[in-house]
Amino acid sequence: MKRTITHLADGRELIYFDRRDDADRSAIDRRALDPRPVASELRYDPLTEEWIAIAGHRQTRTFLPPTDECPLCPSSDTRASEIPSYDYDVVVFENRFPSFSGNFGTYGDVGGLSEVRPGMGRCEVVCFTSEHSSSFSRLSNAQVALVMEAWADRTAELSGIEGVEQVFPFENRGEEIGITLAHPHGQIYAYPYVTPRTKLQLGAASRYTGGNLFADVLAAERSAGTRVVASNELWTAFVPAAARWPFEVHVYPHRQVPDLAALSEEERAAFAPLYTSVLRALDALFGVAMPYISAWHQAPVRYGRDLAYLHLELFSIRRAPGKLKFLAGSESAMGAFVNDVLPEEAARMLRSRIDH
Ligand SMILES: [Zn+2]
Repeated sequence: MKRTITHLADGRELIYFDRRDDADRSAIDRRALDPRPVASELRYDPLTEEWIAIAGHRQTRTFLPPTDECPLCPSSDTRASEIPSYDYDVVVFENRFPSFSGNFGTYGDVGGLSEVRPGMGRCEVVCFTSEHSSSFSRLSNAQVALVMEAWADRTAELSGIEGVEQVFPFENRGEEIGITLAHPHGQIYAYPYVTPRTKLQLGAASRYTGGNLFADVLAAERSAGTRVVASNELWTAFVPAAARWPFEVHVYPHRQVPDLAALSEEERAAFAPLYTSVLRALDALFGVAMPYISAWHQAPVRYGRDLAYLHLELFSIRRAPGKLKFLAGSESAMGAFVNDVLPEEAARMLRSRIDH
């Protein structure tokens, strides 16, 4: 793998991850770009003990441009995109409209009981492939392995930035989920705080009196078997017993590691065929591309690293052909989920569509 760091016209970093050691990455960004916006501000909600990022500048971001104006396709003789090169394998660059960045404005007292601080951190875009009309489910195993190398590299690098507390690689897929660009890509958020869901999970893990809570959940699901969707020697994918979403799959490595950077080469290689087969099963459920969110849960940078357990939580808001689950009153207002699909039935449906 060859890793090349370059910079875009407005100073943002762009990193090529190439399979070939002789890839030429000397192309320069010739666009005239506006200066980068300042970071959002963080406001603390004393009632929920959560930080909320307020990012006014994000309203102007690119929204579903036509294919021939895709900013994530390689550049060409006639058009300059976000990626200066005319081709690429995997590329990562700083988001032009980030929720978190190192580019601070000034933040004052806003009154109320809310503490305010700059949204330090970093937001990156990961292009999974240069092929605009592809999808993660159709990537080759070698391509997924390269994406995983990029994720691992970014996790290690972003964890080292001052103030970063958690690194979160994820993919939003489908217009129903609110994606603004169709090109296969994901994002990485390097948060200046530990996210609410991770805090909850680590709190539960610290109060658990057995072994490692996540490891015990995995072992129990493997033993029960009724909700297992697919597995191989190093990974298992299962629908959690108390799934919140109509179709929700958690993917765990069999070995407890804190983050993607800690996976072995064998574990990365074994993830690719398992995960893409689960994604294809999702798409096969109703014969339409399923909208989904795929979220890597990694240990925080500074605490809970022995309690945490790297895993991926994948879920779709589609519950039937033509029917989406929206977060309505109970979920949105109270955080209390009601799921209309029996997890064992969801697992059975997915399992029957796994191709081997
Ligand atoms: Zn594209």
